[in-house]
Amino acid sequence: VTARVLDGKAIAAEVVEGVKERVAALVRRGIQPCLTFVMIGDSPPTQLYATRLEKLAARAGIQFVRHLLPEGTTVEQLEQEIATVSADPATDGVLVQMPLPAALLGARVSALIDPIKDVDGVTIENAGRLYLGLPGQTPSTAAAIMQTLESSGIEVLGKHAVVVGRSKIVGHPVAELLLWKHATITVTHTRTRDLGSFTRRAEIIIAAAGKPALLTADMVTPGAVIIDAGTNVTESGLVGDVDFAGCKEVASAITPVPGGIGPVTNAVLIRHVIDSADQRRA
Ligand code: NAP
Repeated sequence: VTARVLDGKAIAAEVVEGVKERVAALVRRGIQPCLTFVMIGDSPPTQLYATRLEKLAARAGIQFVRHLLPEGTTVEQLEQEIATVSADPATDGVLVQMPLPAALLGARVSALIDPIKDVDGVTIENAGRLYLGLPGQTPSTAAAIMQTLESSGIEVLGKHAVVVGRSKIVGHPVAELLLWKHATITVTHTRTRDLGSFTRRAEIIIAAAGKPALLTADMVTPGAVIIDAGTNVTESGLVGDVDFAGCKEVASAITPVPGGIGPVTNAVLIRHVIDSADQRRA
């Protein structure tokens, strides 16, 4: 079998189309939804990311504000800025650049964003809601993985899903989301012995480890669905965690990198801004 390649750009476009009417309804009420991106230093990758989000926000009809802090910002200054931005009534969503520069890793980002404006699900309130199966904002990459499965008509209920990675922004939250959709979950990580013995038993594999070519065809059972959330910059360009060429011949469906989960993540983030705007003005 050659797998169906799931087109993240097309799914992202559907997600953005899907919010336009909701944005228009808010604008008719005199509300201009707004996302504020707090960035520290204007390195080219951060600028590129901000520009991508800005374009997508414009397509959806929402305002995008770059809140640029200088290199050398202290933990105290960053915390103060996040608190100020979060308290601004004109802002519906607050997104803080991740990963933070090493000197700022101790900043209490998750405690300072108002949970209702927490469009990337980083606050303890929203993490708790996810754990308890209550409605709330979820990390956008985890939500994008669920969106991709849903938009592709891939049933999750009753399936065995193996998640490779347990980070707080991808692996762990997607495992929770899959669990609440009634999948049976195995979560693997660096201390897992014989990763392939687990992935070979999976009907759905979520790769979120940040290791190029970690998942190879011999680790996949024929017909499995592979979602590759990895984004690794290598000498040969941007690659995921999956040996795409090999796994494509075994899987029934697979996401590419680039053009898979990345674009869907940005689109879902934009939708989360509308969710916040609707919830604040309900
Ligand atoms: P992370 O915080 O470094 O976490 C990686 C996870 O993978 C950890 O739980 C780690 O286990 C596990 N892992 C690493 N090597 C492994 C191996 N050889 N076998 C099994 N598990 C292994 O990374 P992250 O932030 O979750 O990101 C994961 C990937 O997704 C990265 O490539 C990142 O760039 C990408 N990403 C993409 C998007 C997007 O929009 N598409 C967004 C966010 C992240 P331990 O816990 O034991 O260390």
